[in-house]
Amino acid sequence: MNIILLFSLVFYSFCTYSSESVEPIRALTIKVLLNDKSPSNTSISIIGKKDLITHLPKNENSQKKIGTTLTVNLDNDKLYINGKKFAGNALQVKPTEGYLSFENREYHGSFIILKEKNALLLINVLNLEEYVSVVLRTESWPGWPLEANKVLAICIRTYAVDKILEAKQKKLSYHIKTTTEHQTYKGVLNNKHTDTLLLAVKETAGLIITYNNKPILAMHDSCCAGIIPASVEHIDFKKAPYLARKEICNHCKISKFYTWQVTMPKDDLIQLLQQNIPKLKNISSIVVTKTDKAGIPQKIEIYDKKEKYVIDGKAFYFLNKRIRSYYYEIKKNANNIVLSGRGVGHHLGLCQWGARQMVDLGWDCKSIIQFYYPGTSFMKLKAK
Ligand SMILES: [Zn+2]
Repeated sequence: MNIILLFSLVFYSFCTYSSESVEPIRALTIKVLLNDKSPSNTSISIIGKKDLITHLPKNENSQKKIGTTLTVNLDNDKLYINGKKFAGNALQVKPTEGYLSFENREYHGSFIILKEKNALLLINVLNLEEYVSVVLRTESWPGWPLEANKVLAICIRTYAVDKILEAKQKKLSYHIKTTTEHQTYKGVLNNKHTDTLLLAVKETAGLIITYNNKPILAMHDSCCAGIIPASVEHIDFKKAPYLARKEICNHCKISKFYTWQVTMPKDDLIQLLQQNIPKLKNISSIVVTKTDKAGIPQKIEIYDKKEKYVIDGKAFYFLNKRIRSYYYEIKKNANNIVLSGRGVGHHLGLCQWGARQMVDLGWDCKSIIQFYYPGTSFMKLKAK
């Protein structure tokens, strides 16, 4: 789908920033899925500070004021709202004051409760810029300079817009999930340094990174540890040429994640590996037998006496959160497995610690972005 169909895009001028163009952006909304799509989700309770207002999602005239609690149950394919049978498949709810609360967490905007394939989905509908500021609060570090937060705000917004377009294409009822699979989103947060974060969002309002006039897949992680993305194999760089950076990032050495080490009792690793290799009883040896040009493990051979098992390097990374990145070496001693790695996550796109250091070296947010996503431009979103 062409982005122009959804937004009227205004080419961003590098030198000017007009505040008038910020207002229309406020109309852009994002739909965040708050619960997972499991069939066990058959009951949802929402609490407001004061009375709640419900209406049909596409009909604001159907408004009804209810008390401070809304409980929706799905029973035998029928919806029940606060105990009463409801004929529709979806209901929207907004607060008369304050925020809506779900499972002890408060959220901006409104909720849509939707019956989809025998499950109830809870979707948070909020302003895109508000969403960016919430994600920024979880993904940024307190006290980081404004310019570094502007870099991250632009990346978060771009990632979100890419997901909005993808969801529209796939005809999903929501745009984005709340977990690290997409971007971490935890609703209303009160933490320190909020002023800098809000200013970073305001000063970059509506700004996204584009390649060939489309939003990029703005992958980002906290530390790349100098791994060169262009050397990473099994990535379809044809689809995302801007992720194939050839220049090394030397800027994230200050990060505590630049190198990491995890010592795991052998039995713990056996237990983890059994998810992929149920027959594994012991580890006589474990060796990385193939890496890509970037040094990222591709193939790991595990011997249980004479029996050989093979596991893919990426699958090994996903075994446990303590394995921080795709880049690691494995050593075995008598009872332990020692993993020594570099960086965090996938090593692609923006390196947050690198960006932070580049700000100190005098780079501005746009040049930093174009270093990490070579060949990209900027556009400004404007609602229709
Ligand atoms: Zn880096």
